[in-house]
Amino acid sequence: MYTIHHYVNGEAWEGTTGNTQPVLNPSTGQEQAAVALANTADVDHVVAEAEKAQPTWAAMNPQKRVRVIMEWIRLIHANMDELARTLSLQHGKTFEDAKGDVLRGVDVLEFALGAPHQLKGEYSTEVGTGIDTYSLRQPLGVVAGITPFNFPAMIPLWKAGPALASGNAFVLKPSERDPEVPVRLAELFIEAGGPAGVFNVVHGGKEAVDALLDNPTIKAVGFVGSTPIANYIYERCAANGKRAQCFGGAKNHAIVLPDADIEATADALAGAAFGAAGERCMALSVVVPVGKETADKLREALIRKIPDLKVGHCLDPEADYGPLVTADARDRVNRLIGEGVEAGADLVVDGRDIDMSGKEFEGESLAGGFYCGPSFFDNVTADMSIYTEEIFGPVLSMVRAETLEEAISYPNDHMYGNGVAIFTQNGGAARDFVKNINVGMVGVNVPIPVPIAYHTFGGWKASGFGDLNQHGPDAFRFYTKTKTVTSRWPDDQNAGPQFTMPVM
Ligand code: NAD
Repeated sequence: MYTIHHYVNGEAWEGTTGNTQPVLNPSTGQEQAAVALANTADVDHVVAEAEKAQPTWAAMNPQKRVRVIMEWIRLIHANMDELARTLSLQHGKTFEDAKGDVLRGVDVLEFALGAPHQLKGEYSTEVGTGIDTYSLRQPLGVVAGITPFNFPAMIPLWKAGPALASGNAFVLKPSERDPEVPVRLAELFIEAGGPAGVFNVVHGGKEAVDALLDNPTIKAVGFVGSTPIANYIYERCAANGKRAQCFGGAKNHAIVLPDADIEATADALAGAAFGAAGERCMALSVVVPVGKETADKLREALIRKIPDLKVGHCLDPEADYGPLVTADARDRVNRLIGEGVEAGADLVVDGRDIDMSGKEFEGESLAGGFYCGPSFFDNVTADMSIYTEEIFGPVLSMVRAETLEEAISYPNDHMYGNGVAIFTQNGGAARDFVKNINVGMVGVNVPIPVPIAYHTFGGWKASGFGDLNQHGPDAFRFYTKTKTVTSRWPDDQNAGPQFTMPVM
């Protein structure tokens, strides 16, 4: 048993509270570590240290800054197995999926290597006689990231990479449920040559978050998590005059047209609905087949495929997915499944009764783990809580539609608008769908359309608050402010005061 401390000025720091919270192994239910919890004074201390370190980092040539990030990427790869194992054991996702978590974060670090290009600004000459105008991008100062449990490497790196490459100091408040990998990533940044104090990690719950939101030195907050907290953070940042981008929950639909390849679509749905136990903001949790025949064929294929899925210990190489993150998360999923049954949906495959009591992995009992088997509902309607709420578990709901128009109305009218997909062989139908769908990230025969690092990632409606997306060029806009300079070097005599607005 050990304690995961805050990380400040290039060193572990215990903080002043002495308060900790257990970090569990979701595969066994056992406590494996504790995490320190910060109070307001602790957070203020961390921010003050970051503020001291930031000017020197900002004054560095951006090309030199990105050389640190280049070395950071090398060190992350060199430590990949250790990072993925720790991530897997604290989150519960499989080892291979944990590697994907780290690597999709590294993608954004690679994009951030283009910081000198992203920051170089614009220049217009002779905007008036002898007058030039130029715009430059400057770092904001100290910025914060507040991140969720479900991608404990990827999302911190999505925030840290562009923020640091832009010359900011960064304070990360990761999820308290799987806090160790974020600290390891900060340590590796310092090992790569990053100055102490530029990347700090502070752990905690609401008090620590509120302290970041209220600290006037923090100039921007990048948040990812559930919608109620995203909304709260956006409002509190606005009230405090801070820039904020806050990404929230999701309910991602897949529309299946009659011409789709049913076997391939069912495979895509199984992976996208049940992978990582459904704990992905881009998980496909609703399928909307068009027409009875499509729905019946899809139902039959899913009933055939779902029992083959193997649920097990996160490090079991045979497991398709592991446990949910906590007992509360599992109990919530089971409660929602019960509500679906009560509301009249047809529970075709019930994952609640998964029995891990006699099972072991490498001598460890899985009986206390937070497992939920894959569940599949048919005949779900839009008024049921299993449809309106984000379940965030291994549950796939089928909503039957008569027409494409009706099918599209489901994702369009849902409060969330993170991801959506269409499965079809009809290019015209897919094109119309892409144009008209009211959702931020769209897949065409791609079940989880997470954009690549040089495009941007962001949901619409209740899935995202703020106008700039994560990663891609938007991240540099978010973490910098534009200064526009109009400059003149007159060599003529003073023409005296001018009392009218200069016009071109
Ligand atoms: P969460 O909202 O519970 O926690 C996110 C962060 O907010 C954590 O750091 C947590 O400590 C902090 N927090 C929690 N309660 C708080 C409170 N009352 N006041 C202040 N801060 C608080 O989310 P989670 O359970 O860690 O993550 C799962 C959620 O994140 C899901 O809803 C998922 O869809 C969403 N998510 C969204 C995206 C996206 O890009 N849209 C990506 C990943 C996850």
